[in-house]
Amino acid sequence: MSTLRCPVCRADNSAGPNCRRCKADLAILWTLEQQRAAHITEARAAAADSRFDEALEELNSADTLRHGTDVSRYRACVCLLAGDFASAMENRRLAKNQG
Ligand SMILES: [Zn+2]
Repeated sequence: MSTLRCPVCRADNSAGPNCRRCKADLAILWTLEQQRAAHITEARAAAADSRFDEALEELNSADTLRHGTDVSRYRACVCLLAGDFASAMENRRLAKNQG
């Protein structure tokens, strides 16, 4: 899993549940990140199995929990695999602008 930035002091944390610097309780944020990662894992499995609609639904769920360039990149890949080149380019553009 990637690092989690503390909303209080902006420190990057690689382990929880408390911030390593200011000790803020980040347990809820860690839970959200784990759910988000689980959606991405499901999306990858669905895409590998050519279930592209399901993959996009999982990516949307992940993106609802937190926006990220990773989701936009995965979306671009799924759209490419599904043959939807216009959406693939749009998500590639989003990933570039967010990053
Ligand atoms: Zn902190």
